[in-house]
Amino acid sequence: MNASLPILNDFDLGDRSTAADDRLIDSFGRVHNNLRISVTDRCNVRCVYCMPESVTFMQRSDLLSFEEIVRFARVAAGLGIDKIRLTGGEPLVRRDLPKLVAMLAEIPGIKDIGLTTNGVLLADLAADLWNAGLRRINVSLDTMNPVKFAEITRRPGFERVIEGILKAREVGFDPVKINALAIKNFTEEEVVPLAEFARANGLEIRFIEYMPLDEVGRWRRSMVLFAADILELLSKGIGPLAPATDDDPRAPALEYDYLDGRGRVGMIASVSRPFCMSCNRIRLTADGKLRNCLFAVEETDVKALLRGGETDETIARAVRESVAGKHEGHEINSARFVKPERLMHSIGG
Ligand code: SAM
Ligand code: SF4
Repeated sequence: MNASLPILNDFDLGDRSTAADDRLIDSFGRVHNNLRISVTDRCNVRCVYCMPESVTFMQRSDLLSFEEIVRFARVAAGLGIDKIRLTGGEPLVRRDLPKLVAMLAEIPGIKDIGLTTNGVLLADLAADLWNAGLRRINVSLDTMNPVKFAEITRRPGFERVIEGILKAREVGFDPVKINALAIKNFTEEEVVPLAEFARANGLEIRFIEYMPLDEVGRWRRSMVLFAADILELLSKGIGPLAPATDDDPRAPALEYDYLDGRGRVGMIASVSRPFCMSCNRIRLTADGKLRNCLFAVEETDVKALLRGGETDETIARAVRESVAGKHEGHEINSARFVKPERLMHSIGG
């Protein structure tokens, strides 16, 4: 059996607001409670779909300090942000990251702190992150083949990632989620072994459609391995799946369960089934720019406000204005699509 992709109902617009609502609400009624914070644009690998081999990184003096990040997060929490995810670049290359986690965990109103990592440094840091208050962890891994890993990331390190995933489980992270990016004619063979690894180790796996956030000219629509293709590979290679009965229609991942009851698979179908109308995210880049969308072409210079002696009220107003100006959707599938200048590693995925 092939599990088909449900259609996102145009009228299912997620958590709607009321006129008296004080939360971060855009002109389409989307309520924003989720802040993704990039802590660095640097990375210890070079995934081909994310960054070129040679990159000019941000100046260290341009990176927000932990104190600046925490001040912004505190203001955002006052506007209804209750979920934070740390990302990058590779967040674990930022020195003392557990300290930042502990500082963020103390902000009133922040209920949930997550981290997305490539896992290379995770075995060393998992216990400290757990003790600092981190509870959600997503590890990006696109293959179970060390040679293919080095081809995708342009670096060795496969064994360290596996060690990091197992260590994260050992110190208490449950679930550990695996993010696997899928590219046509490049990673089809990786899909089934990755999903089997996840099933065998009690991990949740989510496959992500390739998006045009890398070097100009590299991405082609024909290179996207669509969620429907991945479902077919899994159904044939492992066993039949069906849409999860408790699937949240507003969550970015479409969830599927194996009919044998042994595991769940998610699909982040950003290209074939954009979830823009239920988007609840804003993003802060490592150099302090607020983005109201992964694909935003305009940014708000939060760093200038933080370093310019502006009040929390002024910063809050800037966040509100950014959210109010959010576009309806990303338009990847239209001729109107404009690729952002920043590459994925400097936005924060
Ligand atoms: N370095 C960390 C990692 O790899 O998990 C965090 C940052 S990375 C930019 C966050 C996520 O973005 C990863 O799961 C990665 O696979 C995904 N990503 C990177 N480039 C992408 C692209 N062009 N399309 C879709 N996802 C992408
Ligand atoms: Fe680094 Fe993550 Fe980008 Fe890969 S996807 S190059 S690990 S930032």
